[in-house]
Amino acid sequence: MRRQGSVVLVGGGPGDPGLITVAGLAAVRGADVVVTDRLAPLAVLDEAPAHAEVIDVAKIPRGAFTSQERINELLVEHARAGKRVVRLKGGDPFVFGRGGEEWQACAEAGIPVEVIPGVSSALAGPALAGVPLTHRTLTQGFTVVSGHLPPGDPGSTLDWGALARSGTTLVVLMGIATLPAITAELVAQGMPATTPAVTVMEAALPGQRSVVGTVADVAGLGEAAGVRAPAVTVIGPVAALSLLPPPSGARPGPGAPPPPGGSSVAG
Ligand code: SAH
Repeated sequence: MRRQGSVVLVGGGPGDPGLITVAGLAAVRGADVVVTDRLAPLAVLDEAPAHAEVIDVAKIPRGAFTSQERINELLVEHARAGKRVVRLKGGDPFVFGRGGEEWQACAEAGIPVEVIPGVSSALAGPALAGVPLTHRTLTQGFTVVSGHLPPGDPGSTLDWGALARSGTTLVVLMGIATLPAITAELVAQGMPATTPAVTVMEAALPGQRSVVGTVADVAGLGEAAGVRAPAVTVIGPVAALSLLPPPSGARPGPGAPPPPGGSSVAG
């Protein structure tokens, strides 16, 4: 009798292969098929068994992509063929990763499916830039939103006025293209223009860098510095804290990892 196939949605973390979980790595090492995309930590694929088939469904923002429906079908088809399928995703599978839809597609097809949570870029990006999302004297919470739809878009469910007044740190994912509109709306809704803000690009990847400013100028500074996706923007008093040591003239020795946090383009 053919072995029962299964699907595991694995959160791969923000990009550094050191930031996948032990359970996530074990799942990759036991996979027959790994379905991956642009934001998954590609170095982790080296850990897949030699016989494993790797399917890259690279998604390019606002460009050509494998449709979510096709990805769902791929997971189901391979599991039906008796394979142990790992869907390797960036960050956490259930934070803006459409992991919920993949879970539903498997469950509806009667495929055993489980999720292994991952380190979301919403948390890791700020942390790796030395920005604590909460800080006892500054804020007692944080809010993570998608910037995919700009303020005023009929499809948006976000109340930007409430976000502007929430008193929590605001973390914006998928918000590089819309950041000028988002930050302008926050200020228009009463957030002080002097509120600190930082954009962290390619967190946990070799190209990591940060642009520091205020809610009023972080979008423009980022544009001028060539910031592009993937990037997270943190808005709130904590964005002015950098717990990293200040950059010094000292260069790391040969083979040493780059300094955490990358360079601070502004601020
Ligand atoms: N599930 C993922 C998020 C997927 S949405 C997670 O939990 O991290 C894609 C968005 O995540 C990107 O547009 C960007 O805002 C953010 N992102 C993912 N990887 C990132 C990285 N290495 N550095 C900065 N932002 C990242």
